[in-house]
Amino acid sequence: MSLKFYNTLTRTLEEFKSIEPGKVGLYTCGPTVYNYAHIGNFRAYIFEDILRRTLKYCGYQVTQVMNLTDVDDKTIRDSRERGMDLDSFTSEYKKAFFNDIETLGIEKAEHYPEATKHIGGMIKIIESLIDKGFAYIGDDSSVYFSIEKFPNYGCLAHIDMEGQRPGARVSADEYGKESVADFALWKHWVEDDGDVFWESPWGRGRPGWHIECSAMSMTLLGNHFDIHTGGIDNMFPHHEDEIAQSEASTGEKFVNYWLHCSHLIVNGEKMSKSLGNFHTLRDLIDKGYSGREIRWLIMSAHYRQHLNFTFDGLSGTRSVLQRIDEFFIRLKELLKESDQGDDKVKELIADTEFRFRSSIEDDLNISAALASFFDFMKEVNKLMDAKKIGGAAAEDLLNFCRNIDTVFGALQVEKEDEVPADILQMVEDRIQARTDRDFATADRLRDEITAKGWKIEDTAKGHRVVRIN
Ligand SMILES: [Zn+2]
Repeated sequence: MSLKFYNTLTRTLEEFKSIEPGKVGLYTCGPTVYNYAHIGNFRAYIFEDILRRTLKYCGYQVTQVMNLTDVDDKTIRDSRERGMDLDSFTSEYKKAFFNDIETLGIEKAEHYPEATKHIGGMIKIIESLIDKGFAYIGDDSSVYFSIEKFPNYGCLAHIDMEGQRPGARVSADEYGKESVADFALWKHWVEDDGDVFWESPWGRGRPGWHIECSAMSMTLLGNHFDIHTGGIDNMFPHHEDEIAQSEASTGEKFVNYWLHCSHLIVNGEKMSKSLGNFHTLRDLIDKGYSGREIRWLIMSAHYRQHLNFTFDGLSGTRSVLQRIDEFFIRLKELLKESDQGDDKVKELIADTEFRFRSSIEDDLNISAALASFFDFMKEVNKLMDAKKIGGAAAEDLLNFCRNIDTVFGALQVEKEDEVPADILQMVEDRIQARTDRDFATADRLRDEITAKGWKIEDTAKGHRVVRIN
């Protein structure tokens, strides 16, 4: 079996080979900390989490770097609007970001560099670009990258450079493909920047957004590393510009594999504040959804396909996850059985592991991987119905699920069934009724509990309440 990724650079599915055997350097463009991240942002972070987990499942040691953009056009604009200094303004959103990724079960990266702590590295790259003739100082005293000096410009976004306007300049961090132009590496201080500036050989100013990622990735992963990812929106100009400035300054290839995830749309429409369909993670949590449900919905579509987010879809995950929880509760019950159970179990595990692994290795085909898990669940349920699973087999099955959950990050094998408070109260009342020898009330309560989908089981230690399957 071999791991394959769709490489945006070549627009083909390629077998993955790491630069150093057994190790992967992974750079994932992180949040611009000027607001709470929305579910479109989280789609990219969840895709990157699945990528990271898959690489680890396949035996790689992963060094992941995710930057925090804490100075750019947007952070400056909004901090000034709020009348706050940049640092206090961005630290609020940095904290929120870490809370959010925890809610979504996203594994932590090895490094979260902040742009404002890497200004020195950015200045060094810009100096080398000026020395080598790739960059120039414009009449606005800002430093620009000259795209006509870099013949490979457009290699990622597949832009035909014929007919582009040489010398045209753009100073904004974000611009469209129709504005292909020399871009800003260092922006000379202007009044709108307020007290946000650093000293540089070109006077007071601040870095452009693109140079931030080049500096932080190369500082932490080296000039040449394995994988760089982001949302498709970042491919141009952000990633194109990163390639140009990194390769021009080092003379080495920057990144071998570029992976991009597609858009998230809401009810078939582009998510936007004006359409009222713009959701941050916090909004959804406030509406009563869990991080696990949101993760499940977002990860179940293949990363290169549009993900259509709907509330129906999100509510649908609740019953799926409930079935999974019940499955594990039932399986854990069997751990105490003494017999070995059926040989079929080992075969089922081996077959499912093969299907699961081939799916995730095929450009992170998570929907196929989930399908293999659902088929597995169906087979195990059948074996449980036929009382063919003993304690040792249950242990093997649970361990297998723990293992594949290192990729899904959402099965929650260890989760105990949460009994609702009203049911617990009825159980208590029933115990009291029995103590009082009021059997009519005790029976009525038992029936009510059953009607709500729960039952009381007698165990050696007393009672336990379980969901009726
Ligand atoms: Zn970036």
